[in-house]
Amino acid sequence: MEPLFTYKCTTCGKSFEKDEVLYLCPECSRNQEPGRPLEGVLEAIFDFRKLTMKFDPADTDLECLMPIEKKYRPVLPVGHTPLFKAGRLADSLGMKDLWIKNDGQNPSGSLKDRASFMVTAQALKLGYDRVVTASTGNAASSLAAVCASAGLSAIIFVPASAPRAKLVQVMIHGARLVPVNGTYDQAFSLSMEYTEKFKGLNRNTAFNPLTIEGKKTVAFEIFRQLGKVPDAIVVPVGDGVILAAVHKGFKDLTGIGLTDKLPRLIAVQAESSAAVHHLFTTGEFKASPNPSTVADSISVSVPSNAWWAKRALEESKGLSIMVSDRQILRAQAELASMTGVFAEPAASAGLAGLKELIFNGKLDPASSLVLLVTGHGLKDVDTAEQGLDFPDPVEPETKSLEALI
Ligand SMILES: *Cc1c(COP(=O)(O)O)cnc(C)c1O
Ligand SMILES: [Zn+2]
Repeated sequence: MEPLFTYKCTTCGKSFEKDEVLYLCPECSRNQEPGRPLEGVLEAIFDFRKLTMKFDPADTDLECLMPIEKKYRPVLPVGHTPLFKAGRLADSLGMKDLWIKNDGQNPSGSLKDRASFMVTAQALKLGYDRVVTASTGNAASSLAAVCASAGLSAIIFVPASAPRAKLVQVMIHGARLVPVNGTYDQAFSLSMEYTEKFKGLNRNTAFNPLTIEGKKTVAFEIFRQLGKVPDAIVVPVGDGVILAAVHKGFKDLTGIGLTDKLPRLIAVQAESSAAVHHLFTTGEFKASPNPSTVADSISVSVPSNAWWAKRALEESKGLSIMVSDRQILRAQAELASMTGVFAEPAASAGLAGLKELIFNGKLDPASSLVLLVTGHGLKDVDTAEQGLDFPDPVEPETKSLEALI
């Protein structure tokens, strides 16, 4: 069955049939100014009336809310990552009901696989032979992996300064890597020009609405695994697509009648890259002129999906907070040593923000809370190593053990 949805422009509200448009609202995107978040991002609106009539309770993956049919999806398994109660960490924070959703366990090691998966399925359905993206690093390694599984070419624009492991991932999966001597935002522009000139399906985050649809599956899984909607979910924010997607996922669940509760969203950004935080707290958009944080995956000057991210925070009665690199690195070590989860810096920012909000009394420590861990720590060993003091090697003799007592 063809998926039952149409697109709605999140800027002007106009509706489009899904075979009419691919990326942004054609009208609103004409008014795009440089240095501003994307105008005309499309939202997939499902026909809940029809879907509710036909809803099969055995459809635990909520296939009826997927924009691309299962038969087009790549074979590489994506998602279905573990959710578990973080007892020791919860105790140390005085919390009662803290959970970790570990999306670092996706095939390429980040939540980005969910978006790459859906866009690659779209490419297979529409007959594209190549998929193009700009990335801070994880969308790159992710698209490379998923395209490898689907037998499609991936063309990938990344800042040359991205962590080496992420670039290695791109290369080892056989994708075409274009390192850009510049920022992520500049790589984004270049990838758009490439798509116009040489065709290919564009996976740029928020620009392709299926990135949001792919990422929303994490909300469905949290709901299923927890057996309820948590009070709040902590999300590290760069372009604001994960944040919007988590919100969209829970809204779809209310649409189909599985719950009537929305979780509060907690957005965490790095101090030097906090345009969504600024927009939410002041109502005004201001780019972050020099994003420079150890959390490379959330280092963004102009978040593409800032408008929708702001709306998600408002509608969910959410909170936003900025954290410093020091807080992020401390949270990274704490998460690793108290839960067994080694997260990359961006994925550790969530815990840094959560700690701050608990200590400041902004969050109820008794509430049920999910910490979304978005990427694996092995993707950037160099940064993690900065805070570590390696011991000197010992001689291979019994005597050496005396010093260890
Ligand atoms: C991309 C990414 C984020 C932020 O997601 P946005 O949709 O850009 O806000 C957070 N953590 C990790 C590990 C990521 O790769
Ligand atoms: Zn529009």
